[in-house]
Amino acid sequence: MKYKAFHKLSYGLYIIATGFEGKKYGYIGNTAFQITSEPPQVAISSHKNNFTTDKIIKSGKFSISVLQKDVNTSLIGEFGFMSGAEFDKFRNVETTTSVTGAPIITDSSVAWFDCKVINSVDVGSHIMIIGEVLDSDVISGEEPLTYDYYREKYKMLAPKNAPTYVEKEKLDSEIVPEKEKKPEPVEKKPGKDSNEGGGVHTCSICGFQYNQDDGDPSMGIPPGTPFEDLPDDYKCPICNAGKDYFK
Ligand code: FE
Repeated sequence: MKYKAFHKLSYGLYIIATGFEGKKYGYIGNTAFQITSEPPQVAISSHKNNFTTDKIIKSGKFSISVLQKDVNTSLIGEFGFMSGAEFDKFRNVETTTSVTGAPIITDSSVAWFDCKVINSVDVGSHIMIIGEVLDSDVISGEEPLTYDYYREKYKMLAPKNAPTYVEKEKLDSEIVPEKEKKPEPVEKKPGKDSNEGGGVHTCSICGFQYNQDDGDPSMGIPPGTPFEDLPDDYKCPICNAGKDYFK
């Protein structure tokens, strides 16, 4: 079996959220899909270790916010890689509510769905939750984010609790045919090869790559800044991990 085949399934990225006993819970997921149109029903697959899963079942409601292509990456870091037990993920995001009262994230989103839980199926590590859509809206004309784009642009790994999570070692060991390339030689920047990849450091938590040629404009780091010269309090722009977590 080739795990990379699973990367050829197309998905978007969503924030799944709920509210229970006055508190808000949420996570980033790629598994949210429509299963019927009459009545309008959707399904999500949510990890049992995920704090939010239990709250969705108990509250009987959840929302799905469809993230936009030009997403605020700190949303992905906080909702995708951090636990709501440590801090309030919702402190800096705009939300609204509709029929069920589940919080709906409207930041960096192009559309949302407000759902009532009508069934759930234990599928081992995850629970597949089926919801009836009671309300929905389109809030932006931006393009939605696809999982493929996210993976390519940010070189990101799936969070461990994602149904699509595969260990990086397994993926790296697989050889897949590359796109047919034109045989013309690629011009290489002088000096780039001489540092033998030393210009790229990878966050061991989320997979974000710091490339010294690019710097990190989101954190105010100009292109050409070597990793070693980053301030000691530099944090991964995605998952907030410190410099020590980079390899
Ligand atoms: Fe990270």
